[in-house]
Amino acid sequence: MEKFKELGLDGEILKGIADLGFETPSPIQEKVIPVILSEESDLVALAQTGTGKTAAFGLPLLQKLETGMNKIQVLILSPTRELCVQIGNDLKNYSKYCPAVRIACVYGGTDIRKQIRELEKGVHILVATPGRLCDLIKRGAVDIDAVKGVVLDEADEMLNMGFKEDLNFILDETPETRNTYLFSATMPREVERIARNYLHSPKEIAAGKKNQGADTVRHEYYQVKAKDCYETLHRVIDCAPDMYAIIFTRTKMDARDIAHKLQKDGIDCDALHGDLGQNQRDEVMARFRSKRLKVLVATDVAARGLDVDNLTHVINFNLPEDVESYTHRSGRTGRAGREGVSVAIINSKEKGKLRRIEGVLKKKFEYKEVPGGNEVCRAQLLYYADKILAAEQKETLEPYQQELFEKFRELTKEELIQKMVSYEFGRLLKKYAGVADLNLTEDERRQGGGEGRRGGRSEESEHEFTTFSVNVGKEDGFTPRDLMTIINENAPRKGLEIGSIRIFESNTKFEVDVRGLNGFAGCFRNVSFNGLPFTVTEVKDRYSRNSNGKKRNSTANNRWRKSEGGGRARFGEKKKGAGGKKRRK
Ligand code: ADP
Ligand code: MG
Repeated sequence: MEKFKELGLDGEILKGIADLGFETPSPIQEKVIPVILSEESDLVALAQTGTGKTAAFGLPLLQKLETGMNKIQVLILSPTRELCVQIGNDLKNYSKYCPAVRIACVYGGTDIRKQIRELEKGVHILVATPGRLCDLIKRGAVDIDAVKGVVLDEADEMLNMGFKEDLNFILDETPETRNTYLFSATMPREVERIARNYLHSPKEIAAGKKNQGADTVRHEYYQVKAKDCYETLHRVIDCAPDMYAIIFTRTKMDARDIAHKLQKDGIDCDALHGDLGQNQRDEVMARFRSKRLKVLVATDVAARGLDVDNLTHVINFNLPEDVESYTHRSGRTGRAGREGVSVAIINSKEKGKLRRIEGVLKKKFEYKEVPGGNEVCRAQLLYYADKILAAEQKETLEPYQQELFEKFRELTKEELIQKMVSYEFGRLLKKYAGVADLNLTEDERRQGGGEGRRGGRSEESEHEFTTFSVNVGKEDGFTPRDLMTIINENAPRKGLEIGSIRIFESNTKFEVDVRGLNGFAGCFRNVSFNGLPFTVTEVKDRYSRNSNGKKRNSTANNRWRKSEGGGRARFGEKKKGAGGKKRRK
């Protein structure tokens, strides 16, 4: 607590965080708190998830509030509803002993009128998703004239989720005199651009190196044939009886399928994906948080809002397309100083992807052998034995003791153990008796396992994606949402499964399962986006890398393209509205 005091925090706030068990500031808190408290300076802070960013900005901003003034003074923008709620709750906890402070959260997917009424009562700190806040501003339902501090939390995620235009709009609407504090786990060019356009000589702070996973995370991989990926997953889970994990898949259909199979195999799990309604989503998350589910199968986007910091494992059922997503996934384990394991289950064709991730992370994945039947059973039995040994003998058996002892009188200790195990684990032992060894030979591993995804039908999932490229990208303000809308409106069939979407500067690559469809690319012939012809072409090599727009050759398109942000502003040359006002109509 002394340390927090030295950073300049005082009385009521110290009491609040003491109740939460905070003792010493995390590195990012140590660096950020004094800056926000004492200086009128903007800030760019790079920090991984789980490093304590909420308190880093939350505590000093709470302390600087003038609660006598009944206006919004702090605006915190965050990518998802769940993160908003999480931040709101954290702030309420920090300010437990500051009863005058009023905090509100607004986000999409719920009744806007209720939120408007709450705002009318007067709020000091507003936590919002960019989309909903834009709506509220446009309706004139929120007064942000007195805002002094704007926090962009998880800025990279907000941009990934297509909130760029909304952010520009919001930043244009807040007073020029505000301070802006940008937090991000990674610094892609889009984030730098926001910083350049909207921040004033920001102080730059980094805690932990760029793109480096947390040090408490071990990275492991299993390499098997594509058709054995599921069985491997199943064994890895069974082999870790105390596992509490998120399994990441690339598509929502995979998430659903895998959760379904695992449930059938007796594992407490469920899926979290974009097709769930808000109530179902809340319900699944509540079950996971309370550990009634031991594993949650989720897509990257769906898992975004989920804040659980005691995961033992993160499992990559498919490796993500980009290293940043991997960093995000694996950063969800190994938090709060605990050890965590990030597991990748790959087929031989994904070895290259794995190596690229290793290259960027500067960390090696440890090769693991798929556990055999004996190992799984041993892990389960020993866990069970430990649980029994650790059980406290609180209850008295007095009334039944005589009868119970009498029942088991004939059995030796060995026989009793044998019976208990058969009773509890009969099914498991039977299932794992003599199961196949799924490990590849060393030769197979080196050569790529003899079979993979390219060539034939994909075996590990029910779909097969074709990659397409379209000639609009970040520069055109193109977002995943736009892509989904255009596909839904123009594809000959509804509900097509979309795989990864990668939006580059001037083009976009996306995957669609188009089996059974003819000429998918041709469906967009008459479509335009922001006045640009929307030209879709099939990309033949789905594993091609670095195709980020360099091939762009349509001179016609360039006529449409204004240079965004008016070229290169340096830090400090605040360019009001650079991003927002020049949006192409
Ligand atoms: P981030 O936003 O960087 O991902 P959070 O702000 O959500 O991280 O914090 C992660 C977890 O660490 C939370 O459970 C939070 O309560 C806890 N935490 C943050 N700061 C401290 C601290 N100084 N001491 C102990 N726990 C902390
Ligand atoms: Mg956070």
